[in-house]
Amino acid sequence: MSEDEHLQRRGMVNGDGEGYLAMERLHADLFEISPISILCEDWSGVKQAVDEVIAGGVTDFDRFLEDNPQFFFDVRRFHRILDANRSALDLLGFRDKETFLQESRVRLPANPASNAQVFKAMVRGKTVCQGERVLHTKDGRVVPILWRASLPPGPADPQAYSRLYFFAVDVTELKRVQEALMAAQANLSHAGRLSLVGELAASLTHEVSQPLVSIASHAAAATRWLSRETPNLGEVATSLNRITASTQHAVRIIGKMRSFARRGELVTEPMKPQDCIADAVTLVEHEAYRQKTRIAVDMPANLPAIVGDRTQIQQVIVNIAYNAIQAMQAANAPERRIAIAAAADGPDFVTFTITDSGPGIPDDVLPRIFEPFFSTKQEGMGLGLSICKTIVEERGGRLWAADSGQGASLSFSLPVASAAAEGVDQPAVL
Ligand code: ADP
Repeated sequence: MSEDEHLQRRGMVNGDGEGYLAMERLHADLFEISPISILCEDWSGVKQAVDEVIAGGVTDFDRFLEDNPQFFFDVRRFHRILDANRSALDLLGFRDKETFLQESRVRLPANPASNAQVFKAMVRGKTVCQGERVLHTKDGRVVPILWRASLPPGPADPQAYSRLYFFAVDVTELKRVQEALMAAQANLSHAGRLSLVGELAASLTHEVSQPLVSIASHAAAATRWLSRETPNLGEVATSLNRITASTQHAVRIIGKMRSFARRGELVTEPMKPQDCIADAVTLVEHEAYRQKTRIAVDMPANLPAIVGDRTQIQQVIVNIAYNAIQAMQAANAPERRIAIAAAADGPDFVTFTITDSGPGIPDDVLPRIFEPFFSTKQEGMGLGLSICKTIVEERGGRLWAADSGQGASLSFSLPVASAAAEGVDQPAVL
């Protein structure tokens, strides 16, 4: 069916071109009532300026934009907003179109990040470009949006850019949900860590208190038998035997608690060191963001695979990183950085190092930080690092700490996935 026939069927063409007017009106109506915010913009002058740069011999346009950031602001004067629909005016906090068109330059200042996308799409002849940016509305709101624009195909004449349509969607709600999800994830990991520590501490206290009470009462009895005018050494010996039995009972309970902390069978799977770090970073990044802490990861490509339980290794990194965040927050460190690195340590081990820019670990504290229940924090349990040490050592690795002079540095090594287990001569690389 021809376009005319199609329009005739819809009653839009009556042979003298009135149908096209009707079509124009329909487009205008759709533009106005669309629930999506639409801006109509004239980029022909900008396109001309971009064409001139290319004609001037620039072959690497991306590089040109990086070297000449003022270009974005220079060409701004060639750009005009021609129209905005109702939804766009609402989004930007304007009652009437005229005021917006007068103030649009202030409301939509040149944004190098978004503009660069349009410029690059122009140069590459791409017909679509899109991105995210933040709008500062007239009524003082900061609104994150997703935007998209269609561009003319091919190496177009600048005039083809005289009416570009930009579509925008407010993603405030989406961002809020994303933030809430990230916070929930971080809280879950923190809660998981605390509940394991809490569970351990609660059962340890409960189980061990019974033999301790019995040790104390037998010791008191022995003292009484000893302090008689004629000490009854037989009874003292009986009390001492009972003390020994209760002590052994307590040791057995602690042994059981240790195997509980290990959570049964050791899972042994080859893992990429970068995956362990990526998992852990995902879990701490929200807390890091909240505490204005930057996390940088540095590791060579193709590190050999290590053996371990993914969740446990992730917990080790998360524990160490949380300690770093807390130490920097407590010391009110002006610049808060965590560097996570991994490197091969000979052919058999990979070493992970987590360094922070906090107050560091004082000499008298350093030798004690892996002791169970040792903590310098008011609400600290002092179990995090001792559990980390157990996890790492059970895997045949080592965990150690140092004060770098500019902060604390915690490292642990884990064995490379055994070449024998992989049936090859070389360490496994995933
Ligand atoms: P907790 O966090 O409950 O105190 P941990 O076993 O995780 O227990 O840590 C023990 C102690 O080690 C902390 O109380 C703190 O004194 C010290 N520590 C651990 N990490 C750091 C760090 N990054 N900077 C300074 N001190 C640290």
